[in-house]
Order: sequence, then C-alpha cells, then structure tokens
Amino acid sequence: MNLFSKTQFDADEKGYFGEFGGSYVPELLVGVLGKLSLEYEEAKEDYKFIDELQDLYQNYAGRPTPLYFASRLTKELGGAKIYLKMEGLLHTGAHKINHCLGQALLAKRMGKKRLIAETGAGQHGLATATVAAKFGFECTIYMGAVDYARQRPNVFWMKQLGAKVIPVEYGTKRLKDAVMAALQDWMSDVGDGYYLLGSALGPHPYPSMVRDFQRIIGVEVGEQLQLQEGQKPNYLVACVGGGSNAIGLFHNFLDDENIKLIGVEAGGKGDKVGENAARLQGQPEVGVAEGYKSFFLQDSDGNIAPTHSISAGLDYAGIGPQHAHLFQKERVKYISVTDEEVLQAFQKLAKTEGIFPALESAHAVAGAIRIAPNCQKDEIMVINISGRGDKDLFIIGEELGGDSWKEYLEERSKIIKE
Ligand SMILES: *Cc1c(COP(=O)(O)O)cnc(C)c1O
Repeated sequence: MNLFSKTQFDADEKGYFGEFGGSYVPELLVGVLGKLSLEYEEAKEDYKFIDELQDLYQNYAGRPTPLYFASRLTKELGGAKIYLKMEGLLHTGAHKINHCLGQALLAKRMGKKRLIAETGAGQHGLATATVAAKFGFECTIYMGAVDYARQRPNVFWMKQLGAKVIPVEYGTKRLKDAVMAALQDWMSDVGDGYYLLGSALGPHPYPSMVRDFQRIIGVEVGEQLQLQEGQKPNYLVACVGGGSNAIGLFHNFLDDENIKLIGVEAGGKGDKVGENAARLQGQPEVGVAEGYKSFFLQDSDGNIAPTHSISAGLDYAGIGPQHAHLFQKERVKYISVTDEEVLQAFQKLAKTEGIFPALESAHAVAGAIRIAPNCQKDEIMVINISGRGDKDLFIIGEELGGDSWKEYLEERSKIIKE
C-alpha cells in the first residue's frame, strides 16, 4: 500500500502550495525545520518506518476503520447512496491519532525525548499525551488559561496519561498564546524536544507531513468501495477545521477530477466577525500567521479575528495551506453550515443509524444532508465521520437535554459539595 503518493496539488520543495504555505518562523527554527524535512523525506522511503507505522495503525489505533453503508439515512434523504467512513471508531475516538502516531514515530527516529504541543479544546493535547505515554516520551502541553478552565475533563485525562499541562496566563489566555508558549519552549529545547502539530497547517513540512499520515483514510476508502461497490466514489464530504481529516480523505482522489470534493466549514451562529469559523466564504483574506501563509479570518485592522463554532475542533481562524490552494484552484468546494443545522444532523444520524458523530463530523453530515437529496440514486457519497460524539456530552446535553439535564448537573454538584 502506497501511503505517500503525490498529486498535482502538492507543495514545491519550499513548502508552497501555489502561493500558500511556506515557512515563516524565527531564524532559530529555520535550521530545525530544514532538518525535520530531511528526516521526514528519508523516513518516507524507509520500509522499516513504514512497516512500523502500518503496524501501529492496525494494532494500536484500530485500522482499517469500517466503510459503512448508511441505508436508513440514504433512504431518508432520497438521493445519493451514502457511506460513512468511521474514523470515530479509532483509539481515542478520532482521526487525530493517525498523525500523532506518525509524528511520534518520527520523533523516536530522530532520537527526541520530549513531545511539546499546544491545544485549544484539548483534543489534540489528549492525542499527543496518548502517544507520548505509548512511546515513553515526556510530554508538555500548553493551554490558554481560559481554555484550561473550560476544558477540565481533557486536562484531567492528559494528566492521567502522564503529561504536564501548563495553563498560559498571558495575552488573551487562548489558543494563540498557547502556540507562542509552546514555540518558545521548543526553541529553548530543540535538541530533545519535538513539536507535535495537530492539523495539516503550520510551517513546512508540517502541512504535507500531517496530510501524509492522514492519507490512509482516503486510501482505505478507495479500496473498500472497490470491494463493496466495484467503483469509485462520486462525492467525498468532510468537515474542515485546520483541514487534516478532510485532506486525509481527499488526497488520494485529487487527481481524479470527476470526483466531487466538498469541505464543510463552521458557519456558527451567523455571518458577523466572531460568529463563525468560515474562512472561505464571502471574500477570504490572505494573511501570514503561526508560521504559514493562508486565508485567515481577520478584523478590519488585519488582526486574527475571534471565531465561534459549536464544535471546538472547527473553532479556528486559519485553514491549512493546501486547502487554501484547492479552494483557489476550485478543486474542492467549500460550504458552511450553521450550529443549528449541525445539531439537527447530529440527531438525524443518531436516530437513523445509531451513531453519535462528533460535533465536528456532524458538520460533514449536515453538508451531506443539504447535497445528497439532489444527487442521482446511483451516485455514491462518502462522509468522513472524523470522530465520535461522546466527548461532546456536555455541549450536546446543554443544547438538547432540557431541564432534566440541568437538574442532573445540579444533583452532581450537590453530591460533590457534601
Ligand atoms: C480536531 C478535530 C477536527 C478538526 O480538525 P481537522 O484538522 O480539520 O481534521 C475534526 N473532527 C474531529 C473529531 C476532531 O477531533
């Protein structure tokens, strides 16, 4: 199985996808990233590395994930034949484990001793802490103090896995401050530290590397659909935060222009600045932040704008540079769906198929609910269910649980006070 094939939409040797991507970092990191690129290029050609990665995918993460024919959802929507790629069945409950395993294996190969990461909602921190425990790395996770306070269950789990979780008390005490703190830590420990990135973004080589480790999703879909239907998909649908699960699904099919690719962004509560995380709707704005060039949501002064999404994993102002390129080339169509549509999609999948998607993945389901009814009955649509919904219990409980959910929370807090 070839995990690392190229397409016409890949980066040049400097890490540019068309005009996007590149590497905008402090002088000290230029050499470090150059070395990382070289190591990665070598690892990709090394059968031992690939065998070990495939073994981890299979025996630790639980690959291949099923490609499941959603017969009741298909019938209800009355159009395309819908398949679900079940990434939520992986160990830790989402696709993030794919690129965490790949990067941890690379860090081991490079003789690193410590993993460093930043996390907003905590999902990336949790996946990083998981592979750190599995490989025996030390692990330091940075979180904005505001996020730290709001995401206590994830903080708790990361600590159980042996990670050191550090709340960042300066700036806005959010993700971007955590990024700064993590980068500073890395710069003071470039010998032993490996900076583990959580999506297909950041400076070169991370966008290409993370994509390659996620590419297995689309490779499996191609093989599974060939077995189950004897054909290629007509539509692929995935949610897009930083873009790792979407590019993982799409990449194997980019050169086949008959296959329609749809990325779904977070439309949030509305169109105003701060109400969504829909970077590619309306008039997208180019910027440079966090080490790469792409489209970023910005305020009228050109600062990175605040964002909102019901799903933590899509609540991000930037988008991976390869997606920016695919948008500009019109190879992928990017739509957005609202929080409201996402909650409806969540309920629909639960009640028609017995599956709780993560709220991120429910964006992809909502996108499919819009598009599938207008497709032919013999067309095949694959939706990437990037994660399972268990982690979203508190948000969904608040939205759909009504008074009985609130009473339950009150009861719990009474018990704890006693
Ligand atoms: C983090 C996360 C996402 C968003 O990240 P991408 O890099 O855009 O894939 C989507 N789904 C789930 C379940 C996640 O945990």
